[in-house]
Amino acid sequence: MTSVTLRHVSKRFDAADRSGKSGLASVVESTGRMFNRGKTIDYLNAKRAEPEPADRTYALDDVSLTIRDGETLALLGPSGSGKTTLLRVIAGLTEPDEGEVLYDKVPIRDIPLSERGLGIVFENYALYPHLDARSNIGFFDIVRRRHRTEVDARIEHVAQIMGVDIKHLLARKPPTLSGGEQQRVAVARALARDPKLFLFDEPLSNLDAKLRAETRVQIKRLLRHYQITAVYVTHDQTEAIAISERIAIIQAGRIIQIGTYQDVYYRPVNIFVATFLGNPPMNVFEGNAEGDHWQGTGFALRPLRPGLKPGQKVWFGIRPEHIIFEEEGIPVQVELVEPIYNDRVQIVYLSLIGQNCVARIPLEHSVEVGTTAYVRFPDEHIYFFDDETGQRLS
Ligand code: ADP
Ligand code: MG
Repeated sequence: MTSVTLRHVSKRFDAADRSGKSGLASVVESTGRMFNRGKTIDYLNAKRAEPEPADRTYALDDVSLTIRDGETLALLGPSGSGKTTLLRVIAGLTEPDEGEVLYDKVPIRDIPLSERGLGIVFENYALYPHLDARSNIGFFDIVRRRHRTEVDARIEHVAQIMGVDIKHLLARKPPTLSGGEQQRVAVARALARDPKLFLFDEPLSNLDAKLRAETRVQIKRLLRHYQITAVYVTHDQTEAIAISERIAIIQAGRIIQIGTYQDVYYRPVNIFVATFLGNPPMNVFEGNAEGDHWQGTGFALRPLRPGLKPGQKVWFGIRPEHIIFEEEGIPVQVELVEPIYNDRVQIVYLSLIGQNCVARIPLEHSVEVGTTAYVRFPDEHIYFFDDETGQRLS
């Protein structure tokens, strides 16, 4: 059993070795892609774009966090946010420029790689093509010349937890296995090494949706069974929720928030977290605190929350599932309706005086495309965010 502590870890890369985009550029781009929300993208562009030194980029910027003994922590963030770099630093494969990594209070540099007890599964499963799946799983034990029956027993056990079908795979060589099968063998191989710390880097992103869901459950099952401390890197919030006990949100090399899904979903620290989570994510609107109310473009909310200063620029946010349709209220144009039958809900795309707004309401509620509807934003579900910093105002 292992807990891992990171203290003030930073890592920079020279622009010359920079293969992709800077963390920030890809944050803005991927957020834009995900939400297709002109306003939010502009906001992120304008407000989040901190000046970067021309020749250097922080892949990790003063990261401190603890992964508790036996927990699965999901590291969730857009592409380019520093997830892989952080995982490599945790494994000791990448040396940070500043800060330190401790395994059970022992600095990682004092522990030889072979004694760190790591099980690592990356997106691109690196199996040995000339060995069959059984030998791939038992590879490390075989090279360590453990007793053959002991190795076989362990392979059987791991295969059983990973699902019965892996048994049929054991005799086959990797090139004859599908992506999902290869990935299961890779997980089984890492597990067969009896790891103290399991590190996953987007292990399921090459799989189709159905296989992703199945393999996710198997990974969760074995993490539960063995209670192995694990870090699970993903850009997919559904996966993060399914696999982990806690979620760390990373953006542009910084850990923005850590907590259970409830924490980060219902108490986002800033507008980035608020608009990153949820499907569809939170609606946000630009506006001002004025007199006794908050004034947006074409609609107002009252009374004003205590703590907002008159004239202060603040963004107002509400989640799609909290918007209520009523006989009276704020007028909106219904532009599109997307039913999700198995959840018994519909996603309703609205125009609120030219501003995009998305609601998620029960399927039974009738709304008609092209008509005017009326909505209400219940007070207890309203969020405000500071215009300058993006921080949530309580
Ligand atoms: P993620 O896994 O979240 O997509 P990465 O950790 O791979 O993000 O990358 C974070 C940032 O660091 C990116 O801007 C990336 O281009 C940069 N980066 C990562 N690895 C290297 C490297 N070996 N050399 C130069 N820049 C790198
Ligand atoms: Mg990565």
